[in-house]
Amino acid sequence: MSAKIISGKDIAAEIKEELKKEVEELKASTGIVPGLVTILVGADPASISYVTAKGKTAKDLGFNSIQDDQSEDLKEDDLLALIDKYNKDDSIHGILVQLPLPKHIDEKKVLNAIDPDKDVDGFHPVNVGRLMIGGDEVKFLPCTPAGIQELIIRSGMETNGAEVVVVGRSNIVGKPIANIMLQKGAGANSTVTVVHTGTKNLDEHCKRADILIVAAGVPGLVKPEWIKPGACVIDVGVNRVGEKISEKTGRKIAILKGDVDFDAAKEIAGSITPVPGGVGPMTITMLMKNTVKSAKMLAESKK
Ligand code: NAP
Repeated sequence: MSAKIISGKDIAAEIKEELKKEVEELKASTGIVPGLVTILVGADPASISYVTAKGKTAKDLGFNSIQDDQSEDLKEDDLLALIDKYNKDDSIHGILVQLPLPKHIDEKKVLNAIDPDKDVDGFHPVNVGRLMIGGDEVKFLPCTPAGIQELIIRSGMETNGAEVVVVGRSNIVGKPIANIMLQKGAGANSTVTVVHTGTKNLDEHCKRADILIVAAGVPGLVKPEWIKPGACVIDVGVNRVGEKISEKTGRKIAILKGDVDFDAAKEIAGSITPVPGGVGPMTITMLMKNTVKSAKMLAESKK
C-alpha cells in the first residue's frame, strides 16, 4: 500500500492560519504586534530572495516586518551597533541576520551579539543550551528541526517510546532534532539514535526506525530496503540534481531530490514527506511561530 504523503505545504498553511489568529488576539488584548527585523548586508541574490520571502510571510501574518538593508562594506562594529539597537527596541521581538555575511565580518561574533530572547532562529549558544536542558528552559527551537517535529506530530505519528533514527549530525538539523525528540514530554519522549559517516552498518540502524529522519545531503542515500514497513520517513535533504524548464513560468528551475528514493520508499513507509513540499515550507513558518512566542513572552513579562 502506498504511504500517506505528509504535505509540509498544507501543514505550514494550517500553522500560519493559527498564527494569524494568535497575532490578532495578542494585538487586541495587549496592543503588542510581533516585530521581526531582517538585516541584509550586501546584495547576494539568493539572500535577497530568502529575506523577501520571510518579510512577505511576516506581513501576511500581521507582523511589523522590517527589512534593514545595509551596504556590502558595512563595518563589523557598525553591524554590532545595529544589533544592539534592535536588542534594546521593545517593538522588535525577533532579529535575523541573513547569512552569509561579507568576508570581513565575523559571523559567529555577530550571531552571538543577538539577544538570546530575540534569537528566533534558535542558534544562539544560549538557546542551544536551553534545548539541551529541556523543559521550561526551552525558548526557541531552531526552525527546521521544529518544523520536522510539527510534521511528525500533525501527521498523527506516535512519538512516545518510538525508535527515532536521525541520519546526520549537523548543528542546524541532525543534533537539534535528535535533542528535540528525546525530550521528556508530548510530541517527543522517543528513543533516539544519531548516525553519520562514522557509523557502521547504517542500514541496520535505519531498519529499526519507527521514525526515520534523514538529513545527510546525499541524494538517494537511504535505500527502500532500509525502511521498516509502516515507518514515518522525514526526508530533509534538498539536493539539486539537474535543471528543467518550469511549465508555469517557462524559466529554468532546479530539479530537487531528497536523501530518500521517494518513489520506491512510499511503497514501504507508512507516511513520508516529499521533496520539495515536505520539510522545506515548514522552516519559515516556524520562524514566524518563534517570533509570535517572543512577542507573547514580552507581553507576559510586562504583566
Ligand atoms: P551537513 O551540515 O552537510 O550535514 C550532513 C550530515 O550528514 C553530517 O553529519 C554527515 O556526517 C552526514 N552524512 C553525510 N553523508 C553521509 C553518509 N553517506 N552516511 C551517513 N551520514 C552521512 O548538512 P545539513 O545542513 O544538516 O543539511 C542536510 C540536508 O538537509 C541538505 O540536503 C540540506 O540542503 C537540507 N536542509 C534542508 C532544510 C529545509 O528544507 N528547510 C534546512 C536545512 C537543511 P559527518 O558529520 O560524519 O560528516
